[in-house]
Amino acid sequence: MKDIDWSGLSFGYVPTDYNVRCCYNNGKWGEIEVCSDEYLKLHMAATCLHYGQEAFEGLKAFRCPDGKVRVFRMDENAARLQSTCRGIMMPEVPTELFCEMVKKVVRLNQEYIPTYESGASLYIRPLLIGTTAQVGVHPATEYMFLIFVTPVGPYFKGGFSTNPYVIIRDYDRSAPLGTGVYKVGGNYAASLKANAIAHEKGYACEFYLDAKEKKYMDECGAANFFGIKNNTYVTPKSTSILPSITNKSLMQLARDYGMTVEQRQIPEEELETFEEAGACGTAAVISPISYIDDLDTGKRYVFSKDGQPGPISRKLYEHLRGIQYGTEEDRHGWTTVVIG
Ligand SMILES: *Cc1c(COP(=O)(O)O)cnc(C)c1O
Repeated sequence: MKDIDWSGLSFGYVPTDYNVRCCYNNGKWGEIEVCSDEYLKLHMAATCLHYGQEAFEGLKAFRCPDGKVRVFRMDENAARLQSTCRGIMMPEVPTELFCEMVKKVVRLNQEYIPTYESGASLYIRPLLIGTTAQVGVHPATEYMFLIFVTPVGPYFKGGFSTNPYVIIRDYDRSAPLGTGVYKVGGNYAASLKANAIAHEKGYACEFYLDAKEKKYMDECGAANFFGIKNNTYVTPKSTSILPSITNKSLMQLARDYGMTVEQRQIPEEELETFEEAGACGTAAVISPISYIDDLDTGKRYVFSKDGQPGPISRKLYEHLRGIQYGTEEDRHGWTTVVIG
């Protein structure tokens, strides 16, 4: 294993030895190539550079205490990428090809998978780009699908803890009938300004309301939102939210606990009634929310008075992490042993 201070890593970029690539030409996918070059040779008129024809995914591989390496729900990431492909007119990457490339890139870079004890993991980044040179606004006819990996440090360096969030009304991440449901780079470009403002004001992240009525909770940064009350897990239903695989998994665990799960519109005022609230996604699993400020109305919705995450958030977090690390029973078959 490489001599790296795993627990000191942030969510940055650490070079690894290999990436894997596969090109789409003449209506079909080619052979998988193993590459050690971190750079791409792209035509300057490629559609991904000008018209945002790019999609990505994010998942992780975990070095487990039983010595195996597990990847979490990669078939779900493949399915979501296919949905994104349909959304921005790119050829779908078949699930089999996606999963084969994930396994290959993890195995090739296994020396970079952090130790279990460090709390760090190997982040896997699939990327699909349109590469045809053209200036007219049309879908490309040629594409490159590539996957690279990079070790990332533990999200919670000082232990599982809460953060404050802020509702921002001056910017929308995505429109109700736009590309919010797809994992495309353009949504991130649209969120950079609101995110910078939230950070400037001392918040962990910005919160978006629905773009049309500015009435309902939508997403928090690049994470889904959930609230908990009366043994119920509530998460927004919206046409501009990216369907998080972490959120889908937490909903299942909540159902397994006998909790009620509701996916519906959440009016901002309802925040007052939640006992716990959190943001969820691959990076943190759950990032518990201490409070959400609405600067325009001066309202503060408090979920944690002592800065500690609530008991249900903690239970869900520990349970899901346990499944990822192979220390809790994987009842739903969510993990794939990639190195065993
Ligand atoms: C990737 C992403 C998420 C989280 O999805 P996971 O599959 O749980 O990692 C949430 N919101 C946005 C906008 C995203 O891009």
